[in-house]
Amino acid sequence: MSGLIFALVVIAVLWALAYFAAPLLAWTVAIGVALWAYGFHYHSPPVVAWAVLVVLAVLLNWRPLRRLLITNHLLVWFRKVLPPISETERIAIDAGNTWWDADLFTGRPDWKKLLATPAPALSDEEQAFLDGPVEEFCRSLDDWQITHELFDLPPAAWEQIRKHRFFGMIIPKQYGGHGFSALAHSTVVMKIGTRSTSAAVTVMVPNSLGPGELLLHYGTDEQKSYYLPRLARAEEIPCFALTGPYVGSDAGALPDNGIVCKGMYQGKETLGFRVSWDKRYITLAPVATLLGVAFKAYDPDHLLGDKEDLGITLALIPTNLPGVEIGRRHNPLNSAFMNGPTRGKDVFIPFDCLIGGTQYIGQGWRMLMNCLAVGRAISLPALGTGAGKHASRVTGAYAQVRKQFRVSIGKFEGVEEALARIGGMTYRMDAARRLTAGALDRGEKPSVLSAILKYHCTEGMRQVLGDAMDVHGGRGVMMGPRNYLARGYQAVPVSITVEGANILTRSMIIFGQGAIRAHPYLLKEMEAASSEDHAKAAVDFDRALFAHVGFTISNAARSLFLGLTGAVFSPAPGDAATRRYYRQLSRMSAAFTFTADVGLLMLGGEMKRREKLSARYGDMLSHLYLASAVLKQYEDHGRPPADLPLVEWACQDSLYAMQQALEGILRNFPARTVGWLMRLLVLPLGRPYAPPGDRLGHHVAKLLLEPSDARDRLTRYAFTSADPKDPVGRMEHALKQTLAAEPVEEKLQQGLKKRLAPANYLKLVDEGEKKSVLDAREAALLRETYAVARDAIDVDEFGKLRGE
Ligand SMILES: Cc1cc2nc3c(=O)[nH]c(=O)nc-3n(C[C@H](O)[C@H](O)[C@H](O)COP(=O)(O)OP(=O)(O)OC[C@H]3O[C@@H](n4cnc5c(N)ncnc54)[C@H](O)[C@@H]3O)c2cc1C
Repeated sequence: MSGLIFALVVIAVLWALAYFAAPLLAWTVAIGVALWAYGFHYHSPPVVAWAVLVVLAVLLNWRPLRRLLITNHLLVWFRKVLPPISETERIAIDAGNTWWDADLFTGRPDWKKLLATPAPALSDEEQAFLDGPVEEFCRSLDDWQITHELFDLPPAAWEQIRKHRFFGMIIPKQYGGHGFSALAHSTVVMKIGTRSTSAAVTVMVPNSLGPGELLLHYGTDEQKSYYLPRLARAEEIPCFALTGPYVGSDAGALPDNGIVCKGMYQGKETLGFRVSWDKRYITLAPVATLLGVAFKAYDPDHLLGDKEDLGITLALIPTNLPGVEIGRRHNPLNSAFMNGPTRGKDVFIPFDCLIGGTQYIGQGWRMLMNCLAVGRAISLPALGTGAGKHASRVTGAYAQVRKQFRVSIGKFEGVEEALARIGGMTYRMDAARRLTAGALDRGEKPSVLSAILKYHCTEGMRQVLGDAMDVHGGRGVMMGPRNYLARGYQAVPVSITVEGANILTRSMIIFGQGAIRAHPYLLKEMEAASSEDHAKAAVDFDRALFAHVGFTISNAARSLFLGLTGAVFSPAPGDAATRRYYRQLSRMSAAFTFTADVGLLMLGGEMKRREKLSARYGDMLSHLYLASAVLKQYEDHGRPPADLPLVEWACQDSLYAMQQALEGILRNFPARTVGWLMRLLVLPLGRPYAPPGDRLGHHVAKLLLEPSDARDRLTRYAFTSADPKDPVGRMEHALKQTLAAEPVEEKLQQGLKKRLAPANYLKLVDEGEKKSVLDAREAALLRETYAVARDAIDVDEFGKLRGE
């Protein structure tokens, strides 16, 4: 018995050492004490065990010997299995920095650190801009006119863009822009997106990756002083052209070229580039006056030096130069923002046209990646979140107003399910949008998080708009001025495709770059392995590798402990309702980090080709982040109890998504036995999570169906209107009217002992008034409700369709 207790104590101590990632010396001492205690208890020292301990202790604790006998050999092996990293990949990995993603990759996220970050907030000036010019701009937009009649924004909208400097949100005040925070920039794009996708894309492009941002970071003083004020006032319409027929996701493979040569510019001979390009899909290109172009620079005549192949270079080319071709348009799924091809043949540009001047020749890829690390976290996530807010507001209202089988369709369980997804996902997208914008405003440049945001907010958009269309049935399908959904739904693939097409983002970027960027040791090991300084490489690699091993063992021990105990002992902030989610996220963080480490160890460079596996690891990392954002938003909003259904739905959905991803990793792990062993550690008692339950879904759906503070908070900054003639205002008005009429309808049904239906509605109102069941005011209310509800469900009719 005492032997059993002794063994249990030893296991517990070793487990604790592993759990807390104790240093090697602590392990050595602990095992020494255990061997001494064993010898003392049994009066016979375990000689062989002592000998093994001494050899291992010396070998592992004496670093020069450890390097000589172990690490240097592992370094040779590591160099062989190291994924070949191209220059373009290395630049993408180096771009930006890490933030909360790095914490999630430790297996023990520091929740206090997350909660201590300030709640993102708009300044008074930014709020005034939203309440004034943005509101006015939105109100003036008629998306049907834009997408069906004009195929462009109306001249008055372009005028407002100029007057209120919508193109200058990221341009500092000293250059005539607004100098807005990332949060304000995101909120403006989001709000416009709830009114018109075409208008939102038009406004968002000059404020995201393009001439403005590139000039801000890399422009010469002259370029900044000249162009930025003109861009802010939209006197210059910018676009940025990278993509071409042969250049899509593999954006580094540019065939477009620029040859260093002498040429004539404004009557003078000067050195410059003769540039030729063939680009397509370029937003704003048809109306651009300033064309940002990425090309590969060559110096075959050695006018600049010895090097011939100079690398990707970025230039700003005025579109009135001879040889520049713009003006033709694509039709991106009937969205009416300007988009088209641009071509140039032997266009001579002086070096002054290079962004940042000659010092940035060949630096184009780095410049683009650095800007993408930030920009990708703002525009498209804003558009996706806006879609969620708009869908929540209008679908909730429609599901209340539209009745079938004499019941509001929102009360049917099937419809509830769709409404719950819309509400829960919108809360989560908004939380992630705000958290990330706040991080950007504190100077972080989290490139992995920006990829997570881009992917999940645009996929979220696809889901919520699909659900919204389903709930609207034919009302969503029939296009026309009354339809406030179909154009956004149609445009979903645009957001899915741009700034890193989603399949690629999920299967290559989020984990592929995230693992290297956010992992506490991997990048250090890779840097050491690729270092030319062999002595330093050996020391650095040894240090990183042993810390990494301790880290992996710790996460294995933590995963098992947290799995067996349901993580109930894990320290967690929050309140009674949310504490368990912090705990489960800590558990999943340990499981993710441990399985990711084993995956990287077993697959090495092969991981790059295992995109399905990489995508599942990416899903885990993403949902760890998204659920963290949800919990943080709940705290930032002061823990409103009414928001809890949304918070819980989003957290439960994320946990379930993580579990699905983990299950996929374990089941498809290339070494089956390793997959099975990992399962024992990370899911020791089976699968703990289920999708959000029916009752919870009911509460979320209910929240969308009736006006409330929680509904207003969820849909804050979605464009709304009180005008019953406005497409959105019509639905808001009908919702209020329907709810106001409900008790009166009930009174009428009770009084007449008859059930109201569309066919007898007006007749029963007349009868009720005649028999004094209703007074005149109540009868008028019901007659009006009947008309308002009919107007809200009506779709457009046309005498003739275009082209008929
Ligand atoms: C409306 C619109 C506006 C745009 N605006 C601009 C602009 O202003 N400037 C500009 O330069 N470009 C712009 N683009 C181009 C956009 O960035 C590209 O469309 C995008 O990079 C994808 O390239 P592609 O369309 O050629 O798709 P492809 O690269 O051919 O990809 C097709 C599919 O294959 C997937 N895929 C590719 N490689 C991999 C991989 N290794 N692993 C997994 N999946 C992979 C992709 O995810 C995608 O689903 C715009 C595009 C659109 C549609």
